[in-house]
Amino acid sequence: MITTAPTLRVEGLSKRYGERVALDALSCMLQPGSFVALLGPNGAGKSTLFQLLTGLFVPDAGQIHVAGHSMRDAATRALRHIGVVFQQMSLDLDLTVRANLRFHADLHGLPRAAAQARIVQRCQAAGLGGDLERSVRELSGGNRRKVELVRALLHEPELLLMDEPTVGLDPKSRRDLVASVRADVAARGTTVLWATHLVEEATQADRVLVLHRGRLLADGTPAEVTAALGGGTLEEAFIRATQTQQGVPA
Ligand code: ADP
Repeated sequence: MITTAPTLRVEGLSKRYGERVALDALSCMLQPGSFVALLGPNGAGKSTLFQLLTGLFVPDAGQIHVAGHSMRDAATRALRHIGVVFQQMSLDLDLTVRANLRFHADLHGLPRAAAQARIVQRCQAAGLGGDLERSVRELSGGNRRKVELVRALLHEPELLLMDEPTVGLDPKSRRDLVASVRADVAARGTTVLWATHLVEEATQADRVLVLHRGRLLADGTPAEVTAALGGGTLEEAFIRATQTQQGVPA
């Protein structure tokens, strides 16, 4: 039985854009140290969920708690425990790697000396030790993503949100990114929510949440989700479940 407090608790979360329902009474809990894939086709509601989790939008109904802090009543405290890698690159291209990371450390109020040491150590571990004084513009797409991951983890958040982070990356960069995130889960017990529409990425997760039309269709290990959605491979089950009219397997 799991007795630890969840890193993320989402209860009855709903969000509409006019008539369109993007999230429909979504509930889920993520336990510490788990690597969870949020798998859904385009339009499933993944980005909307991330926008609510990061406080960019306010839900129409429902609750979000991060590390026990309510996004509604204590957003600043809740956000302190979140690190995010956005879908779109969000580094300043003209600043150096070090300056981008220092800016983030300042925003989080990390002490300067400790932040400097952490920046150097994390960049070296990510294979970016020689790039600290280079502008981000000079880096490859894969290395830009690595810098974004270092940035997301710099304040040592309990919850790491990755919003379709491998879009545009080559296979080796994709693999490296998954390995780096896995290493952080193992080292610090970070909880990861990794949004993707790629089944291949979800098969590597400890747990898969299948989102379709704003609702959870299945929740469990890749094997459990495959079985719940009618069997075969996860890819077959996912396609079958998300291509039916009501989003439930025939
Ligand atoms: P995903 O990230 O899984 O592709 P989104 O959260 O972007 O899904 O979208 C969920 C649904 O909400 C879709 O039907 C989409 O068309 C709609 N939607 C998303 N953003 C907006 C918006 N700003 N205005 C209107 N509809 C939106």
